[in-house]
Amino acid sequence: HNLFSNEHFAVYGLGKNGAAVVQSLLAMGAYVHAWDDKTPSLPHHDRLTLAPISNLTGMSALILSPGIPHNLPKPHPIADLARAQNVPILSDAELLFQAVRKAGSQARFVSITGTNGKSTTTALLTHILQTAHVPCAAGGNLGIASLALPLLPDEGVYVIEMSSYMLERLHQFHASTACLLNITPDHLDRHGDMAGYTSAKKHVFDNMTPKDLAVLGQDDPWCDAIAHDLEERKIPFTLIDPDHLPEFEASALPGRHNRQNIAAVWAMAHHLGLNDKDIRSGLSSFPGLEHRLQKVAEYDGISFVNDSKATNAEATSKALASYDRVMWIAGGVAKAGGIEMLVPWFDRIDHAFLIGQDAELFAQTLTKHGVSFSRSETLDKAVPEAFQKARQSDVKTVLLSPACASFDQFRNFEDRGSYFVQICKHIMS
Ligand code: ADP
Repeated sequence: HNLFSNEHFAVYGLGKNGAAVVQSLLAMGAYVHAWDDKTPSLPHHDRLTLAPISNLTGMSALILSPGIPHNLPKPHPIADLARAQNVPILSDAELLFQAVRKAGSQARFVSITGTNGKSTTTALLTHILQTAHVPCAAGGNLGIASLALPLLPDEGVYVIEMSSYMLERLHQFHASTACLLNITPDHLDRHGDMAGYTSAKKHVFDNMTPKDLAVLGQDDPWCDAIAHDLEERKIPFTLIDPDHLPEFEASALPGRHNRQNIAAVWAMAHHLGLNDKDIRSGLSSFPGLEHRLQKVAEYDGISFVNDSKATNAEATSKALASYDRVMWIAGGVAKAGGIEMLVPWFDRIDHAFLIGQDAELFAQTLTKHGVSFSRSETLDKAVPEAFQKARQSDVKTVLLSPACASFDQFRNFEDRGSYFVQICKHIMS
């Protein structure tokens, strides 16, 4: 309460995150000046001014919504103004950190970033902490805005999923353990080149001390450079090794890519004081994350797997690599390159069921490589067809991993996944 009383903050961008930040700042006693290009609908409050401002003098910070650039490709004018007036541009994770310390809590922070696997790793670590009865709260890039998380006691742990944009807007934020899972080309528009993207991701280890633990993927050369940097700063680090893990049971986390996430979580959980028994117990009861290789039903020994989050071929390659043989449901709005990069995994496909607008493009690639397929057009047809075919064969998995965006037939990937689940449930009833 009143942790920011009499301070003034500017908040630009009032999407889900921005709106939550405004509410939290008001609850902490601050004056808030908030605006958006659209007309925002926020409840009236005495300390809230809803109007664009052209002068940031006296503001403690400017909080920009994650979608608004403060440097590349072109800084938003408000970011230039903040710099000119010496007003820090902060992410709400930074404000959470400051608020928790102001409130006198020594709760620890965990920061998780990487191109892929952030949400899975965040959810898994949080689940393991919960099962071990450690007070914890998770937020950030996915889910709840960091600043909206509750105040935790000294023994508590905040698990924050960080996008590279958030990482560039930290200041005092200090993670007791932080992990950088992997770096592959993504968001280069916002970071210039791989060097720029890497240096953004590197901020995940800012302010760490020799008592902390950095965890990083060992699979790509960019991590090597960062490891070298950590060595010079005398910050202990662990390289994630997915191939050398203790025995464990984690049925909700198939595939080698998930072993990478598990290895990262294992290292961080140890550092936070959990033992192998606690970690194993959390791993085996982890329910999985919706729409990511999530087993949603089983009938007649056949599993239905929802991987609707796979909106590109790269993600689908992880899915195909996780099973021996599948009935594969795919299609929608294809990304550049279609499914050419999936050719090395085509031997996992027993039969493909194509849906969506770019089915013909996929059909051409499959034909070229001798993979059998049907033009199912919609999920309504594809799911029962795939199920029938699985029953007539020894293939035990029906996999929806579209390698495509969904907006030709659905609102978003969540919608597509939920509809798939509905059809699966219908088949079983
Ligand atoms: P993010 O939050 O970073 O987008 P998610 O945990 O939501 O990551 O996983 C999204 C997709 O990324 C998964 O469906 C899977 O295809 C892929 N993925 C997950 N973990 C990894 C990993 N460690 N390495 C590579 N790809 C991964």
